[in-house]
Amino acid sequence: MLPPDATVAVVMAMAAEAAPTVERLGLIACSSHVAALPFRWYEGEVGGRHVVVAVNGRDERHGVDNIGTNPAVLNTWLTVERWHPGVVVSAGTAGGFAALGGEIGDLYLSQRDLVFHDRRIAIPGFDEYGHGRYPSLDVAAEAQRIGAKLGVVSTSNSLDWPDLDAAVMAAHGAAVKEMEAAAVAWVCWLTGTPVFALKAITDLVDHPAGTAEQFVANLGVATERLAAGLHALLDPD
Ligand code: SAH
Repeated sequence: MLPPDATVAVVMAMAAEAAPTVERLGLIACSSHVAALPFRWYEGEVGGRHVVVAVNGRDERHGVDNIGTNPAVLNTWLTVERWHPGVVVSAGTAGGFAALGGEIGDLYLSQRDLVFHDRRIAIPGFDEYGHGRYPSLDVAAEAQRIGAKLGVVSTSNSLDWPDLDAAVMAAHGAAVKEMEAAAVAWVCWLTGTPVFALKAITDLVDHPAGTAEQFVANLGVATERLAAGLHALLDPD
């Protein structure tokens, strides 16, 4: 359940993922407390709650958005330290699986825990540490309310899906593949902040068409669904 009255921080990676959400929720850009860093924040009131959307910003060296686990950690830390949210949402796009009933444009809320599928460390203790398994807030009721599916969300730093990662994802029972959620959840674990993920499916990992090609073709539809899903989640009326 979403804690009532608490600030909700929505941590997102790409500017294109965040733009429809910022517009739909009517959020306003806020000043940065770390102006030298690329992160950007937007805030406003949604359904009587204070909502902050935190976006990673661009990597000027490479001319692309900052994605993956390193920016996710730093963004989450800077956001939690400044706003002390009652809950953090790792929101964005993700790959789904046709074999598990996934479809382009589906919304998934996280189930059970947030895991990594590329941190294979075959040393007792470190093996479990590698998988992460940070608990997700139980959002089953919200999933039913907004028409989202529930699934285990699994994170790595790669867009591809080699056999080794596929085996770990299958062992996790994961239905959603992306590049930030477990990293966001690690910072939430450290700071005692409840966390869950909301992901819109841009591509089907087990489809013959290439992931990058599907991602580009479906980004617009998926991010509009994401914005609508976040709106419904935060403002039940
Ligand atoms: N190829 C894209 C680059 C970003 S894709 C482009 O051309 O613009 C990776 C981003 O989308 C990450 O932030 C990740 O969380 C999400 N994502 C979507 N589908 C994914 C998948 N199948 N595997 C991993 N990450 C995925």
